[in-house]
Amino acid sequence: MRISRETMVKLLQKKEDPVKDPEVLRAMLNVPRHYFVGDDFRPRAYDDSPLPIGKNQTISQPYMVAKMTELLEPRKNSIVLEIGTGSGYQAAVLAELVDKVYTIERIPELAEEAKKRFDELGYKNINVRIGDGSVGWPEMSPFDGVIVTAGCPDIPETLLGQLIENGKLVIPVGSIGFQELIVVTKKKEGYHVNRKFGCVFVPLIGIRGWRQGGSSCGGSAK
Ligand code: SAH
Repeated sequence: MRISRETMVKLLQKKEDPVKDPEVLRAMLNVPRHYFVGDDFRPRAYDDSPLPIGKNQTISQPYMVAKMTELLEPRKNSIVLEIGTGSGYQAAVLAELVDKVYTIERIPELAEEAKKRFDELGYKNINVRIGDGSVGWPEMSPFDGVIVTAGCPDIPETLLGQLIENGKLVIPVGSIGFQELIVVTKKKEGYHVNRKFGCVFVPLIGIRGWRQGGSSCGGSAK
């Protein structure tokens, strides 16, 4: 059965840990997710599951996108950085809510496809960089929020260093095949770490320290 975007957004509000922020729910209603997947997957675009986008990567599960966005506590004047553009869907959801989105993708073909989608959909506040996001985007820092949409073995110091005071880093941390979603808030006196729930993301490439785990599919809550 084909699920509509409205039904998907209703489902997000019925989860055990529901998405509550009305602005995030509005953004989820506005962004056409079917635009961010290939033709073969369009009938399933509003299922609450990750889907393949080629190059062994996935578009994250809508619940994951909405939750990570909510945890970032985006504001209209925020400047945010995303690591792992993938299809561009998460960046588009953020672009609905904040002033500027910077997003980095290491696979050029995915970055180019995402850019094309942003142009076609009229998102003018998203900047895409092709490269290794594990080093962040120092020239554009500091950011109000950083969101990493690939799994990491640890919390990268470099990304924490690119946050403003009270800024948030939302990141899946763990092994290949299983991570925990973590929210780090940068405070004057240090970092406040809040562990949320289990999840599975494709691994962030180019970062050291991976422990062995299972296989990965990506972008879903566990
Ligand atoms: N946010 C995406 C889903 C991300 S999937 C969406 O909304 O569709 C994870 C993405 O991270 C993949 O596209 C992968 O190529 C990218 N990635 C992995 N390691 C990376 C790195 N070091 N720098 C930048 N991108 C990376």
